Amino acid sequence: MSQTFYASSKIDRHSDFRSDAKILNKIMIDDKTKFVPIWNGKNLFQQVNEKIEAYLLNKEDLRLIVPNDIVNPIFLGVADNTNYIGLDLNENNSEFNLWIEKKSIIIDDLRKFGPTLNEVEASFLALTSGMFYWHNTHKFCGFCGSKNTSAEGGFVRICSNSSCRKSHFPRTDPAIITLISSGDRVLLGRSPRFPEGMYSTLAGFVEPGESLEQALEREVFEEVGVRVENIRYFNSQPWPFPASLMLGFFAEAKHEGMRIDYNEIEDAQWFSIDQLRSLKHPAISGEFKLPRVDSIARRLVDTWMANFN
Ligand SMILES: [Zn+2]
Repeated sequence: MSQTFYASSKIDRHSDFRSDAKILNKIMIDDKTKFVPIWNGKNLFQQVNEKIEAYLLNKEDLRLIVPNDIVNPIFLGVADNTNYIGLDLNENNSEFNLWIEKKSIIIDDLRKFGPTLNEVEASFLALTSGMFYWHNTHKFCGFCGSKNTSAEGGFVRICSNSSCRKSHFPRTDPAIITLISSGDRVLLGRSPRFPEGMYSTLAGFVEPGESLEQALEREVFEEVGVRVENIRYFNSQPWPFPASLMLGFFAEAKHEGMRIDYNEIEDAQWFSIDQLRSLKHPAISGEFKLPRVDSIARRLVDTWMANFN
């Protein structure tokens, strides 16, 4: 099976370190610790010999742009005996603009370079993005409205009101994504937000009190009016852009006739296996494109094609 992007198995989150202030303090001052920065929800990159790489802060960078104590660091985990800390530069910078210019830092969306990056670094960048999105959208307690403060290495936010003290945990929103087939054809749709010409598998968020299978049946029927059967789980992919967990499924259509809801999607079509094979060669695919290689949507399509006989 092809790689699950943004979920490297080489990372150990070491959740036991989160509540150990002694270890966390040691990690913060250790010269070998790597700091994963974020700026306005975006990641930092640098071009190194024709290749784009993630830019992680070294001690000298920290001295320059984070002269005071680091505010709200997140202990991300350990890989290859190195500790990684996430850092929101919006809360910490002083000489930021000068520094990015001097270093030719590129600030951009991780998904633009994700598939070409080192697997461990891409996963830490994704984790950092998702975690700070949660911190920045949960500054206040949802029960009493008081300020929350970061705790447990950044994996809990606790209400500062002494008569409340509710704990808040990072949130991930489950979404189903499904490849629907009928014989040698698959159903792909496009949202107006997609890059031009791109068609992908159908997806949607799971609602409270709903099973994954029910969410799948509902979303597919809402978007294209197709009833499905033989729902089979494939695998999952974190998609913290900003806070989703994609749960991939295969399903078979009971009928090919569609009733497209144009408020939800722009178009949907049945693609034959031969069409899909030609889509993999952009030079001959014309106006259609498959989803990006770092997505579970693409792995659903590729896996279905590989298993088709
Ligand atoms: Zn509260």
